[in-house]
Amino acid sequence: MNPPSETFRLGLIGWPLAHSLSPLMHNAALKAAGFPGEYRLYPVPPLPEGEASLLDLLGEMKIGSIQGLNVTIPHKQNILNQVDLLSPAAKIIGAINTITVQNGLLTGDNTDWLGFLSDLDYQFPDLNSEKSRLAVVLGAGGSARAVAYALQLTGWQVNISARRLEQAQQLAAEFSSAGHPVSAWPLLQCAKLSETTLIVNTTPVGMFPYTTSSPWPVDLHFPKQAFLYDLIYNPIETALMKSARSAGLLAANGLGMLAEQGALAFEIWTGQPAPREIFRQAAVERTAL
Ligand code: NAP
Repeated sequence: MNPPSETFRLGLIGWPLAHSLSPLMHNAALKAAGFPGEYRLYPVPPLPEGEASLLDLLGEMKIGSIQGLNVTIPHKQNILNQVDLLSPAAKIIGAINTITVQNGLLTGDNTDWLGFLSDLDYQFPDLNSEKSRLAVVLGAGGSARAVAYALQLTGWQVNISARRLEQAQQLAAEFSSAGHPVSAWPLLQCAKLSETTLIVNTTPVGMFPYTTSSPWPVDLHFPKQAFLYDLIYNPIETALMKSARSAGLLAANGLGMLAEQGALAFEIWTGQPAPREIFRQAAVERTAL
């Protein structure tokens, strides 16, 4: 697809959005790819307060005055019923982070799972040679769903561990009935915890400004051979990453996932390969400030 002659309008729906890196990444990428467009923030309060704004924005997409939207907290799940079609991944994950429009019909997609998987491979190439593929996912919200989907699809045995066991069990039941079995256990009751080779934090615990908090209990040893992936990228080294590294684990933050899920959304909207280095650079430069 050639760059459009009219301004390409893209954006992000969420609340609050003050620290979002998405406009920086997407605007730099649009410029580099020669698209005369802009990517902006659309702060929409949680429902029911934000309902009218949400419907207005989707209405603008349907008439073609916005070409693409990303969706983040707190709307990733409640927007499922507002779109006309779902990609197969978004359907199973049960959360949308990217919306496209064609002939007035909205399609909800999810690029978080593939963004996570690509960056996991990039950060930990040695993980591929691990014979024991046992993963623990901390948290059971929208991003846990994307991570569990990605891991299960690539042969990992996944345990979901969340502070509300019923939320983890619900996720496990939904995934299992869709043919993607995962289990749900509290961390301390998790079988084979010591054999776990991958820990993924999908909770916001440790995110700015609560940077001294960690979702890993202080008195619990890390599995020795595990890799740790923290979806948080602000700060760039979380308290969890710090303690895992002190225990000898390799650890990565979620900046690469953020860049990759953005690049994948760009490709869905524009039909062109994304300038990946620009996405990564824009995110890294801003976080380093
Ligand atoms: P979410 O849907 O709200 O889910 C968060 C999960 O964490 C829920 O299970 C929640 O449990 C749990 N949780 C929240 N506070 C907790 C606490 N104090 N102790 C223990 N568990 C707690 O959020 P999300 O969309 O999955 O996002 C979660 C994190 O991932 C955020 O930091 C977000 O920035 C990050 N993220 C990063 C990327 C990336 O590209 N790097 C992409 C997506 C998300 P309750 O329901 O009980 O609160």
